[in-house]
Amino acid sequence: MEMTLEKLERHWMPFTPNRDFKRHPRMFVRASGMHYFDPSGRQVLDGSSGLFCSPAGHCRPEIAQAVAEQLQTLDYTPSFLRGHPGAFALADRVAALTPKGLDHVFFCNSGSEAIDTAIKVAFAYHLARNEGQRTYLISRERAYHGVNIGGTALGGMVRNRETFGALMPAVLHLRHTLLPEHRLTRGLAAGGVELADDLQRFVNLVGEKRIAAVFVEPIAGSTGVILPPRGYLERLREICTRYGILLVFDEVICGFGRTGAPFAATAFGVTPDVITMAKALTNGAQPMGAVAVRDDIYRTIVDAAPDGLPEFFHGYTYTAHPAACAAGLATLAIYEREKLFARAAELSGYFLDAMFALQDLAGVADIRGFGLLAGVEVKPGKAPGARGAELQGKLFDRGLHVKTTGDVAIMAPAFIASRADIDQMASILREAIAEY
Ligand code: PLP
Repeated sequence: MEMTLEKLERHWMPFTPNRDFKRHPRMFVRASGMHYFDPSGRQVLDGSSGLFCSPAGHCRPEIAQAVAEQLQTLDYTPSFLRGHPGAFALADRVAALTPKGLDHVFFCNSGSEAIDTAIKVAFAYHLARNEGQRTYLISRERAYHGVNIGGTALGGMVRNRETFGALMPAVLHLRHTLLPEHRLTRGLAAGGVELADDLQRFVNLVGEKRIAAVFVEPIAGSTGVILPPRGYLERLREICTRYGILLVFDEVICGFGRTGAPFAATAFGVTPDVITMAKALTNGAQPMGAVAVRDDIYRTIVDAAPDGLPEFFHGYTYTAHPAACAAGLATLAIYEREKLFARAAELSGYFLDAMFALQDLAGVADIRGFGLLAGVEVKPGKAPGARGAELQGKLFDRGLHVKTTGDVAIMAPAFIASRADIDQMASILREAIAEY
């Protein structure tokens, strides 16, 4: 199909300057391993695993085959009142990776849906315990929890919120943890643990039994990679436990090996009550999200309802879609067979060395990183974010795909990346940033 401007205008693109894109379309038509290919056949190195989705590399035949076979065997079944084996098998595989005790998995189709599902789980759990007065939710400044109304209300990035009305009431935001004194710190910084005491202040403000749940990304990803200070997540855990507040880790980016462990909860040794996940669950090959909950949360909600009636009035037409489950099972099998989480842990030192070596560039404002996730922040141009947007284009033109937010290039290579791939990412970044 010839891509006239008129035809391009039919697709209203998300989080994209549509007019700009349609003047200069940047298309991908093929992908393989670490690379995308544009219509001219030019190879573009994938520096962000797509959108943090594809740690096993692109177009894995095992996943494609599993999905194709599934679609020819059982293409669709409702998950309301009906089941299929893949859903139970995948829930079992996911539960084997989550921290001990988070053994029940609710499927949805995206990270945004996982967040809204987790909000409902929190309210349903407290109501089932006769604590329905817990109507407050807590999240953080600069957080990204997707784009549904619940996740938008929890989110802490102003451009994602300001257009969309009053959002949900009773959401309070903890301060974010990006402190100027932590500039260029590799890994978790010392200092700043007291930022978690904002939660205690909220308890003091609204009451000991008014907060349902606290949502945090263990490492805030989409906002530009913000790490928790040492001891911060532990402090949140302590306060949540003291007041019966559910702690939800949004691991949509961190989950499935990005930190070098199955989940950031494992990497940081802090166990939440609920984990939301998506993206790498299917290596990006099918849309899917999930929520893992602690056993007693599941039991409380399920056991509170009369026998023979649904216990949780929530779910999606495509919950546990057979093709997504097939993709998930094939993906988790690859992670296990190729020991990709260990590979991520092993490659992390080399990757972070390469990213932190960019700090000699005058145009670099900050670098932050953990595991195979790093934010390289450039000094702002005319307006905040203008230079980041420009940098993203420059990198693409030089053969590197990177997700930018504001003035931060978010680097998240696939776990199959070679050292040469990392070197190439660093050298393209260096060349482009050297112009500032
Ligand atoms: N939560 C976090 C932490 C994310 O990073 C994202 C997406 O980047 C989401 C939720 C939303 O996921 P989705 O875009 O699949 O709805």
